[in-house]
Amino acid sequence: MNTPAPVNVISHPLVQHKLTLLRRKELSTSSFRRLLHEISMLMAYEVTRDMPMQLIEIETPMETMQSPVIEGRKTVFVVVMRAGSGFLDGMLEVVPGARVGHIGLYRDPKTLVAVEYYFKMPHDMHERDAIVLDPMLATGNSAVAAVDRLKETQPKSIRFVSLVAAPEGIDNMRRHHPDVPIYTAAIDRELNSHGYIVPGLGDAGDRLFGTK
Ligand code: URA
Repeated sequence: MNTPAPVNVISHPLVQHKLTLLRRKELSTSSFRRLLHEISMLMAYEVTRDMPMQLIEIETPMETMQSPVIEGRKTVFVVVMRAGSGFLDGMLEVVPGARVGHIGLYRDPKTLVAVEYYFKMPHDMHERDAIVLDPMLATGNSAVAAVDRLKETQPKSIRFVSLVAAPEGIDNMRRHHPDVPIYTAAIDRELNSHGYIVPGLGDAGDRLFGTK
């Protein structure tokens, strides 16, 4: 059996500091949004670290040279709605040419199973590297369902980015998608009986949009 793709915990002090601020329950909606934006920009550096590059010919004031670029348009950020949208703008600031796909999933509150209600990807997915954005990797059911669905479009590669992950969600992803590397800023203790990550940060969508 092949070795599973790595789980990359992004331990950069700036990410860890901002995550601590973000977890605090007294944080306002606007500060939550701003911090998530800042963290996503910082995480984008790590997530794109080994992106494929190509050499292009440019002219400096001194001479012509071959110099490397990321093919931004070949990257597609896949937002798992709704909390994934909090990650998007920061990532797009770092890779402005990227395309964006959306997957709408909700968790059935009784079964915690992911149910799809929206799916829209750019054309020519087989030419693109997909980066899935979903801040809370909890049970992993929606992550697994999102990647299942995304694989039907046959992208060149898939990475999964979360902010906080539970061990249960990581195990679930490893079981179903061992080929997909996971990036996260923290692996928390466990899930509670409602499928929330503890200590976690609560409902990321509600905190982002001020809906509770
Ligand atoms: N989704 C959230 O927003 N928070 C959790 O803790 C789990 C799932």
